[in-house]
Amino acid sequence: MSRFFAERYRDLAPYVPGEQPRDRRYIKLNTNESPYPPAPSVAQAVKRAAESLNLYCDPTCTALRQALGELLDLEPENLIMTNGSDEVLAYIFLAYGQRPFLFPEHTYGFYRVFCDLYGVEYSRVPLREDFSIDVEPYMDSRYNVIFANPNAPTGRDLPLSDIERLLNASPDRLVIVDEAYVDFGGSSALGLMGKYPNLIVVRTFSKSRSLAGGRLGFACAQKELIADLEAIRYSQNPYNVSALTQSAGLATLREEVYYRACAEKIKHSRSVMTSGLEALGFTVVPSKANFVFARAPGLSGRALYEGLRARGVLVRHFEKAGIEDYVRITVGTPEETLALLAECGKVLEEGK
Ligand code: PMP
Repeated sequence: MSRFFAERYRDLAPYVPGEQPRDRRYIKLNTNESPYPPAPSVAQAVKRAAESLNLYCDPTCTALRQALGELLDLEPENLIMTNGSDEVLAYIFLAYGQRPFLFPEHTYGFYRVFCDLYGVEYSRVPLREDFSIDVEPYMDSRYNVIFANPNAPTGRDLPLSDIERLLNASPDRLVIVDEAYVDFGGSSALGLMGKYPNLIVVRTFSKSRSLAGGRLGFACAQKELIADLEAIRYSQNPYNVSALTQSAGLATLREEVYYRACAEKIKHSRSVMTSGLEALGFTVVPSKANFVFARAPGLSGRALYEGLRARGVLVRHFEKAGIEDYVRITVGTPEETLALLAECGKVLEEGK
C-alpha cells in the first residue's frame, strides 16, 4: 500500500474472487459459472457488434431493456442494466446507504465489502443451524435488508411468504433480493414488485445465461427506485454496459429455450451430485442453486478442498467460523459431476 492511499481505505478488506488458475487444466467447480457455453447465436451477434466498436455504446441500453421487459412482463423503466450485478449492488449501497443494512452472517461477501467501501453501517444476522434464514430479526424497520435468494454459499431458498413479511414490516425501508441463482429452482420475488414500492430484485446473466465473462446484470423495481439508481449510474459510468455485452445480452434473450434446457440439465446434475455425495457420507444442504454446500465425513473443509485441488478439481472453501467444515461445489456437466464424485471418494480414502 502506498502512502498516497486515502486514510479511510487503509483497513479495507477487499472481496476475494474464486481462483481462476491458468497453471493446469482443472475441473472448475469453484465460481458458480455455467458449464455450458453461450448459444452459438450469441457469439455471432458479438462478432457483428465488434464491427462498430469505434462508436460509443447505447448508454440507455434501450433495446436490451425492451427485450428483457417483454420477457419479464415489465416496462423498460422498471429495469436498469449494469456491468454484472456487482455493479448494481454497488449502486444500491451508494444510493440507499443512509439507512443501515442488515444481511445474513453467511451470504454473498460483496455486501460487506460495499458497506465498508462506502461507509455504510451494517449488522450481520446469524443463520439458523440448518443454514436457513430466520426473518424475525430482520423485522426491525430501522434497517434496509439485503440477501441472496437462493442464498449463497448455502443454496437454501427463502419462501415468498417470508419475503412479504419483510416488505410489510415497514414501507420505509428497502428489501433487496439478490436472485443471482433463482433460475435453478428458487422462488422469485418479481411478482411482488407491482405491490411493493420498497422491493428491489437483482439478477444476473452470469449463471443461468452462461455470460459470466460478458458481465451483464440488472435490477428490477418500481420506476422511482430505478430513477435513483440511474442517477448514480450516470454520475459514475454511463457507458457501463459495452456494445459487445449489449449485443450478447440481446441475443441471449432470444435463446430462452436453450438456456432453460441448460438449467434443467444443471438441476438434474445437482440431484446426481447430491445423492452421490450423500452415498459417500457427506452432509449436503438442500440446494435450489447451481451449487451445493457440503461437508465431508471426518475431514475438514480445507483438507477436502486441498485434496480435490491436488487431484485437479477446484471447489470453493471459506475459512469462516461456522462454515469452515463445508465446501461449495458448483454443479458442472454430467461428466464433471461423476469425476467430482470419484475424486471425493479417493480423497476420503486417502484421509482414512
Ligand atoms: N450475487 C450473488 C449472490 C453472487 O454469488 C454473485 C456472483 N459472484 C453475484 C451477485 C455477482 O455476479 P455478477 O457480477 O457476475 O452478476
